[in-house]
Amino acid sequence: MSLEGTDVAATDAVTKGGATNEDGTSEGAPLLTLSDVSKVFNGDLVALNGMSLQVRAGDFVSLLGPSGCGKSTALRLIAGLSHPTSGKIDWTGGQGAGDLGVVFQEPTLMPWATVAQNVWLPWRLRGKSYASVKDKVLEALALVGLEKFAGSYPRELSGGMKMRVSIARSLVTNPRLILMDEPFAALDEITRHKLNNDLLALRAKIGCTIIFVTHSVFESVFLSNRIVVMAARPGRVIHEVAVDAPYPRDEEFRTSSAYAAHCRAASDALHDAIGD
Ligand code: ADP
Ligand code: MG
Repeated sequence: MSLEGTDVAATDAVTKGGATNEDGTSEGAPLLTLSDVSKVFNGDLVALNGMSLQVRAGDFVSLLGPSGCGKSTALRLIAGLSHPTSGKIDWTGGQGAGDLGVVFQEPTLMPWATVAQNVWLPWRLRGKSYASVKDKVLEALALVGLEKFAGSYPRELSGGMKMRVSIARSLVTNPRLILMDEPFAALDEITRHKLNNDLLALRAKIGCTIIFVTHSVFESVFLSNRIVVMAARPGRVIHEVAVDAPYPRDEEFRTSSAYAAHCRAASDALHDAIGD
């Protein structure tokens, strides 16, 4: 993905408080706070039990845990697609229209619409004509390196390219927070590494805050400054691992001893979560 040739709000990283320190920590203002959030299905299935988490502007938080530990439930609650059974979720200063972008595991593109029309969707749902937001659509496509594919149809794209379109769609309203639910899990490892690198480059450029769900230790360490480790039955947070390695992170980081040490720490926490 080329990030060159675009001039998308270079100051956004500053204005959104999205910068991270050299050691990877964020001192951004609190953006979102989950206080003792629980979700119970059918009266007795505790999908999430007492989750508390404060996400700061500029954080890249991964939710890491085995299948069924409530990762998707947590994201759905944050996205407002579902409501907590108890506890509360607060946006500092309230949640504005377009503040949230969401990327799912499947790209979920409309097959009959062009790439540009797919990326226009969040604006279209807010009643904006294509002409009035065309620049934003093309800007978002440029950010994921797909500006030349604006007129293509999803069937003409590879799996990795479809996921880039889905990411562009999540960016098009210039959100403060992006939620990503295992977006790269279905991709081959090489494509996944490439998209991991590109996601960090993109984040450095636009300065958004990300909550990312994965069950991959390696992916969570590469991307995040904070890893929230979760366990199942009931779904709950059991550890938080800080990844205090500086950004930008690149292939050199992926093969460094610091990366290996962080992977071991996250892996130990995950084994705790799985109970072995
Ligand atoms: P994860 O994303 O970590 O794999 P989920 O959040 O999807 O886990 O699910 C957590 C638990 O809640 C699982 O036991 C799942 O079966 C259950 N669950 C999730 N959504 C629903 C639902 N809409 N109705 C009933 N049970 C659900
Ligand atoms: Mg899930």
